[in-house]
Amino acid sequence: MSRPSTLTQLFALDSLLDADEIAIRDTVRDFADARLRPHIADWFEDAKLPAREIAKELGQIGALGMHLEGYGCPGMSATAYGLACLELEAVDSGIRSLVSVQGSLAMFSIHHWGSEEQKNEWLPRMAAGDAIGCFGLTEPDFGSNPSGMRTNAKRDGGDWLLNGTKMWITNGSIADVAVVWAQTDEGIRGFVVPTDTPGFSAPEIHKKMSLRASVTSELVLDNVRLPESAVLPKAQGLRGPLTSLGEARFGIIFGAIGAARDCLETAIDYARSREVFDKPLAGYQLTQAKIADMALEVGKGHLLAYHLGRLKDRGEITPEQVSTGKLNNTREAIKIARECRTILGANGITLEYPVIRHANNLESVLTYEGTSEVHQLTIGRALTGEAAFR
Ligand SMILES: Cc1cc2nc3c(=O)[nH]c(=O)nc-3n(C[C@H](O)[C@H](O)[C@H](O)COP(=O)(O)OP(=O)(O)OC[C@H]3O[C@@H](n4cnc5c(N)ncnc54)[C@H](O)[C@@H]3O)c2cc1C
Repeated sequence: MSRPSTLTQLFALDSLLDADEIAIRDTVRDFADARLRPHIADWFEDAKLPAREIAKELGQIGALGMHLEGYGCPGMSATAYGLACLELEAVDSGIRSLVSVQGSLAMFSIHHWGSEEQKNEWLPRMAAGDAIGCFGLTEPDFGSNPSGMRTNAKRDGGDWLLNGTKMWITNGSIADVAVVWAQTDEGIRGFVVPTDTPGFSAPEIHKKMSLRASVTSELVLDNVRLPESAVLPKAQGLRGPLTSLGEARFGIIFGAIGAARDCLETAIDYARSREVFDKPLAGYQLTQAKIADMALEVGKGHLLAYHLGRLKDRGEITPEQVSTGKLNNTREAIKIARECRTILGANGITLEYPVIRHANNLESVLTYEGTSEVHQLTIGRALTGEAAFR
């Protein structure tokens, strides 16, 4: 029997990365394998993530706000950030969500749209994992169409009064700071809200069957009084939150393919050792057809992610290209997770193996940061010139 090649070798993927990128990738992979992988099934089953502890460790390896410059942030390339997302999501989408929300949604919003005072106050602590951030855009009645949001901020003397409810907010109950988007007389504005401000509460959402190793919460804003200095001065209109979402979607392009890789590697290992009808499952043509087809999609997903990473590093990536990557890689990843589950048979439904956990997680990944349908509409608009959102 010949020695099997790895997925990386099949596509010569490492030939597309430089030595620094490989070193960063390997650091994150080693951390993920040593520190996260041994515990993840329990964290998922118990729906309890030691998020503060993990955030500090992620800060120590430079994974928080990784592609941001200054203010204590690591200042690495977009591709390096993507590779980190890939390795973290190969363990669990919940861990990558922690990193995406912290770095791409909360920190990026403050870094890109914030005042010097806001940046100095929050970014160094957030990069170190000493402060956790969340990003409140979605509401109970407004997910895909955030322009309809009802959360509002009204001027009251020199202050702002913030009222409303946000829903499905990652890191909400554990956050020290929330970036909250609200309607104002000046259009949609972003607010940097310390979570100990009176009137702010964040009840956790329970009974989730997906992203159980991730904190998801409601944000309740009941006459939250904020000074003028809480407004993100450079963001006005929906462009503010949508630009930040583009950053997080970019990480998902890499992350989802990490989950798919982990499923396929697990399925290949399983098929090589599982005997059915007196020989290894891997020796059957039907199994090999599944494995070969999935390997093509995992490989193509990597190539797409790397290509989009290079475009982003050159400052050339467009929102439609981000949609293309997010739609393709999440959709293929969830198909792969389900197909791998078939190879594992009944064992595939347990947390002894990562496959069903990835499959369940990917249901959320398919929905958040723009559903598949919203990305189809974005690509459709780009190609036809017709907007079909309403
Ligand atoms: C685990 C998890 C974590 C999340 N974390 C965050 C977070 O940190 N911050 C945050 O702000 N949000 C967060 N979200 C919310 C997420 O972004 C929304 O769930 C998502 O935008 C979809 O909104 P919705 O659930 O209200 O679905 P809806 O918008 O109600 O969509 C329902 C269905 O209708 C489809 N649909 C909508 N519009 C159209 C259309 N024009 N044409 C055709 N079909 C359409 C959708 O594609 C979908 O299939 C999170 C969600 C989950 C599940």
